[in-house]
Amino acid sequence: MVGRNTRIAIVGGGMGGLTAAIALTKITGVQVTVFEQASRLGEVGAGVTIAPNAARVLDRLGVLDRIRSVGAVPDGHGVYLDAMGGMVTDAAWEDTAKQYQNIGMYRPDLIDALASAVDPHIVHLGHRLKSVEQRGAGVHLTFENGAEEDFDAVIGADGIHSVVRAAVDQHPDPVYSGYIVYRGVMDASRLPDDWPMISQVWMGNSRHFMAYPLQQRKLFNFVAGIPSDRPLNGPWSGPAEVSELAAEFSGDGWDPRLQHFICRIDKTFWWGLFDHEPLSNWSRGPITLLGDAAHTMLPHQGQGVSQAIEDSMALATFLAAAEDVSDIPEAFRRYTAVRMQRTAILQNGSRRAGAMFDAQYEFQNLAKRDADIRVGRDFRRGAVFDYDAQKVAEQALGRFRKVQYA
Ligand SMILES: Cc1cc2nc3c(=O)[nH]c(=O)nc-3n(C[C@H](O)[C@H](O)[C@H](O)COP(=O)(O)OP(=O)(O)OC[C@H]3O[C@@H](n4cnc5c(N)ncnc54)[C@H](O)[C@@H]3O)c2cc1C
Repeated sequence: MVGRNTRIAIVGGGMGGLTAAIALTKITGVQVTVFEQASRLGEVGAGVTIAPNAARVLDRLGVLDRIRSVGAVPDGHGVYLDAMGGMVTDAAWEDTAKQYQNIGMYRPDLIDALASAVDPHIVHLGHRLKSVEQRGAGVHLTFENGAEEDFDAVIGADGIHSVVRAAVDQHPDPVYSGYIVYRGVMDASRLPDDWPMISQVWMGNSRHFMAYPLQQRKLFNFVAGIPSDRPLNGPWSGPAEVSELAAEFSGDGWDPRLQHFICRIDKTFWWGLFDHEPLSNWSRGPITLLGDAAHTMLPHQGQGVSQAIEDSMALATFLAAAEDVSDIPEAFRRYTAVRMQRTAILQNGSRRAGAMFDAQYEFQNLAKRDADIRVGRDFRRGAVFDYDAQKVAEQALGRFRKVQYA
């Protein structure tokens, strides 16, 4: 069995990398080292939803109670609305067993909650990876600060512009989707007392606006998707004026409630949305990928982090079954086979969800668009929220073993 003598590096101390550190430490007992480029662990001041499929994993890893205590579970199902605020349909928000719900998280709180479950001595800050090289059965990592180190294996959790990705797949970088989002958080006390504590999405012509509660309902998150031909070969995020955002949702065609929400916002920033076709491979020998590095996806299903969390559990499950270090490449191959299938479905689904929210393409027929959203809601509850990443990995291990020993 792999264990204390096995040294695995995780590049990236974001939500995916930290969850992987927790899962690997807890389930496999290997020696984990996390390398993060920033000088401290942190995240942008915006929200993120932890979906029920990720909450299930976090529960098994023993961190869900802490996450729930600083997050916000909504009062009930969310709603999809048309631009004028008319109800289109309700949104899935919990699994079929009603055990796990969507949790609205302020990103810095989520990072803190995950970091509190990781031994700080294993996290090396200020280490920006420059290159990964396979050396013998292991890997050699070189950092921009001059540090170099050898490991038995490396996991690239280094996000959308991953350096590790180039070592496993000669795939071009993610491409700009033609959309930006305005993002930010607002103090919930600025909203009317009867503002619903649920997720709401207003869907208009080529743009949408989403809002949901965070941080024990003290904050509200907002994300507004808007087409933009802003050239994104330079920075792909930055500060923005609230007046720009307000102008995108002004006029008679928009729900006055939404306009009231926007006029209470005092700070926002913009963020370019990137998309990627599924990669042809995630693993090569003792090198593998996880999270956005492996499966950059549009945010319209709120599954990016949740998939990184599922990846972490699956990867730990496959690694725990490895007999010794020489089995790690096979464990990574098995992990890749199972996870690539799952995440490709969600990458495609996120693209389609965005097209629906913004009434593009075939969804110019709004009656069809609305019917498709209703179908999507049931798919989300069953196939997305009920998914048990650990169980699927264990079942796959059983299948792999049968093939191997038959
Ligand atoms: C507008 C918007 C809304 C979203 N909403 C949701 C949502 O509701 N639910 C959801 O599940 N997902 C959502 N997502 C997606 C989610 O944010 C990402 O999928 C998630 O952040 C991916 O986590 P990660 O750990 O893989 O990568 P990241 O969060 O990008 O973390 C990568 C880490 O690696 C570090 N790093 C990068 N390069 C190097 C290097 N060379 N050396 C060392 N360290 C490095 C970075 O500093 C960072 O800490 C949303 C995304 C956007 C843009």
